[in-house]
Amino acid sequence: MKQIVIVGAGPTGAALALLLVKRNIKVTLIEAAKSFNRIFRGEGLMPSGLDAIAQMELSTILKNVPNRQLDGWEFIIEDRQLFRVDEPMGADRPCTLVSQPPLLETLIRECQQYQEFEFIQGISVTDLLSKEDRFTGVKLADGREIAADLVIGADGRNSVIRQRAGLELVKQPKNIDLLWFKLPAHDRFVKDNLFCAIAKNNRGFSVFHGAEAGKLHLAWVLSADKKIDLKNTNWAETFAALSPSWLADHFRSCADKIETPIKLSVAIGRCPRWWKSGVILLGDAAHPMSPIRAQGINMAFRDVIVTANHLVPLLKAEASQEAIDLALAKIQAEREPEIIRAQKLQRNEAIRAELIKNNPIIRSLLSLFAPLVGNIIKQKWVKEQYEMRQGITEVKLVV
Ligand SMILES: Cc1cc2nc3c(=O)[nH]c(=O)nc-3n(C[C@H](O)[C@H](O)[C@H](O)COP(=O)(O)OP(=O)(O)OC[C@H]3O[C@@H](n4cnc5c(N)ncnc54)[C@H](O)[C@@H]3O)c2cc1C
Repeated sequence: MKQIVIVGAGPTGAALALLLVKRNIKVTLIEAAKSFNRIFRGEGLMPSGLDAIAQMELSTILKNVPNRQLDGWEFIIEDRQLFRVDEPMGADRPCTLVSQPPLLETLIRECQQYQEFEFIQGISVTDLLSKEDRFTGVKLADGREIAADLVIGADGRNSVIRQRAGLELVKQPKNIDLLWFKLPAHDRFVKDNLFCAIAKNNRGFSVFHGAEAGKLHLAWVLSADKKIDLKNTNWAETFAALSPSWLADHFRSCADKIETPIKLSVAIGRCPRWWKSGVILLGDAAHPMSPIRAQGINMAFRDVIVTANHLVPLLKAEASQEAIDLALAKIQAEREPEIIRAQKLQRNEAIRAELIKNNPIIRSLLSLFAPLVGNIIKQKWVKEQYEMRQGITEVKLVV
């Protein structure tokens, strides 16, 4: 029986492991982190990601994982609402926030029902093993070596597998840093969970109610704030100064409960080549995604489906290594167009947001004429979101 080693139990690695073991394929999944709670993990799933979950027959599992639907999107510029759009924006499912640590734990528990599954947690993979011109397994930090017919690098944006395989990552030129805050929720977000993007005085942030009960998430972009004194900033006042009065009052009233933020470096890019003989990169390891419009987990699940479609028949038939390598090229060819397009759409959104944030004339005009132009801008924005919400290419699980 062929042995697959998957490195990284994020959405890509955990979902792929489950699809494979359910089809009687032997998988060793290796996760560096001791607990899924230790790392920051995104939550937003678009209709295309929820569709992938349904195709993988995981919708019932999802019901037992804390999740919360988004009710809409709101853009506030210089204290004035530019527009609001209600979910599901023409789709059959609304964008939904799903708490990732319990989702991953649930996927791993499901995998553990199958004897083909082995999980090694709390130890990182440090290197690839190779023989002649093929990668043949992985080396762990504790010195263990695990042989594999195929290594799948699902180890995220700083992928060790990518580096050890000598696969290049072409990064988008402007990476950003984010501060990610959590704070108590305001009633208004509990009743009407808007993803609010706020821009004022060359600054801006996004805020929404996360999957976890009673918690707001707030993302603050650091790129334009290089001089900000992170330790001594009064964050409640900083957020309040940019917010409409009801939200400003909330920030001030819960000032002492705003949790210390996590600093996240957002690296965005794509590998020109995702594979070499015996190894393939998937998810963020192959194409680190920007957080804009919650694409990364959705793309990860869709990579997983396409990979299963190509690999399962070959692995079951004990196909030759050459046939497996050929399938790796096909996986990249099938997934690449969607990734390129999604990253382009994310970049367009980022450029537009920067323009609004940094240009006082545009902000003033948008705010002043919001009642006149808001609806036109809304229609255009909704149209542009279609591909990022529904997916760009057709992805159907056929194995
Ligand atoms: C601030 C921010 C917010 C985001 N929000 C969203 C969102 O709301 N919705 C969305 O769809 N996407 C979001 N994203 C993107 C999303 O998080 C990623 O695209 C997605 O997590 C990729 O999944 P993955 O499994 O490929 O990688 P990851 O989720 O990064 O998982 C990789 C796993 O590999 C493990 N690992 C790493 N190195 C090793 C090693 N050497 N050995 C063993 N294990 C290893 C890690 O511990 C980790 O568990 C966000 C990204 C950022 C930066």
